[in-house]
Amino acid sequence: MPPAETSGESIAVIGGGISGLTTALHLQEQGYHTIIYSREMVQPPGPGIPDPAFATLFPAACIIPHSVEMPDLTGVFGQSQEVFDSLSRLPGTGIRWQTHYEFGAGPDFPDPQVRVVLRDFRRIDPNQTTPPFRYLQNEISGWSASILFAEMAAYIPYLMHRYRSCGGEIRQTALDPESMDRIRCDGIVNCTGLWARRLFMDNSVYPVRGILVLLEGTPFPPRRGKPILSYNYTPPPEAYRYDVYFFPRTDGWLLGGSREVGTYRPDGTPEFPPFPVEMTDGIPEPILGLNATLLTDLTGVDLRQFRRRSFAGYRPGRTGGVRLEAASELDRPLVHNYGHGGAGVALSWGCAERVAEILADLL
Ligand SMILES: Cc1cc2nc3c(=O)[nH]c(=O)nc-3n(C[C@H](O)[C@H](O)[C@H](O)COP(=O)(O)OP(=O)(O)OC[C@H]3O[C@@H](n4cnc5c(N)ncnc54)[C@H](O)[C@@H]3O)c2cc1C
Repeated sequence: MPPAETSGESIAVIGGGISGLTTALHLQEQGYHTIIYSREMVQPPGPGIPDPAFATLFPAACIIPHSVEMPDLTGVFGQSQEVFDSLSRLPGTGIRWQTHYEFGAGPDFPDPQVRVVLRDFRRIDPNQTTPPFRYLQNEISGWSASILFAEMAAYIPYLMHRYRSCGGEIRQTALDPESMDRIRCDGIVNCTGLWARRLFMDNSVYPVRGILVLLEGTPFPPRRGKPILSYNYTPPPEAYRYDVYFFPRTDGWLLGGSREVGTYRPDGTPEFPPFPVEMTDGIPEPILGLNATLLTDLTGVDLRQFRRRSFAGYRPGRTGGVRLEAASELDRPLVHNYGHGGAGVALSWGCAERVAEILADLL
């Protein structure tokens, strides 16, 4: 994207996750001088056990929006998809196209909200014999499309390098309202995800926990000589109340399948409802069982032979959806950009472009 006329105005971007990093990079390339202020950066990873509230440590990362709402979701996602598409043509970005399936039990699995901007969108033919659908016992319906996918292990270093190369600065520090007031800048962009609750007193943010299982040493691509594919499968609700998914990555096959909506206790710690299904080593049985059925038939590989690591992260949910707007809480222009749920990567470029438009009107 060509840089806009240099404005020289300085912008403090609070938060070094995918929203903050992409927004700062976009603004920097538009001619602003940006500094990211962040308690933690996704790269290099901090020591010890990763904080589940730092969402950018956890995405799968498919470039389609899930578990999120916002006005003009399709427009924002479409903008993002265009940028990711251009990145997929550059070496070293970690961005690629692949075929993705979303399907569920029963005849009426819905089309996605962003259907009109998805490439190669088609309804699944219930009679088709292409894997993985013929192996499920129950009737299924759904859709497939070509989607973009971000290998975060390559994509984050690419973004960091591009940001620093065009003069972007990073200060690793935790801000509170007083220290935020002392920053010398012409405008502030808030990209603090779940922490907007503390820093900007927004009680409408809440964590949506996702449990992930990474199988190590798995073949990539998963089907020798065949295109890469991924899926989300929603079983009958009596079997499991969430979807289970499979995303092959270069660091292993990633299995997922929980979207537990949490609340905060009075002391600020998150709390989640008890899991209604059997767990194996902290992993809900369907994540392993249903995926094993699908993947054994799809790839001929028994996933139980691989070493697995499981972990959980919190998607930054928000009642009312993504907050992407100007606000007047501070003595200078402030734009909020947080609450991206399960779609912070997918929406990152579209939201960054909207932030730039809002700032241009304010400054
Ligand atoms: C299991 C799981 C799977 C997912 N899969 C996908 C996927 O496939 N595709 C997709 O698009 N999305 C996915 N997501 C969602 C995605 O990870 C999030 O939407 C996204 O990472 C949110 O990024 P963020 O930058 O807004 O917030 P965060 O990554 O949480 O970043 C917040 C930043 O703010 C900083 N900060 C907070 N408070 C302060 C303070 N006081 N001072 C300074 N800095 C502060 C933090 O240090 C951090 O750097 C998934 C999430 C989970 C948990």
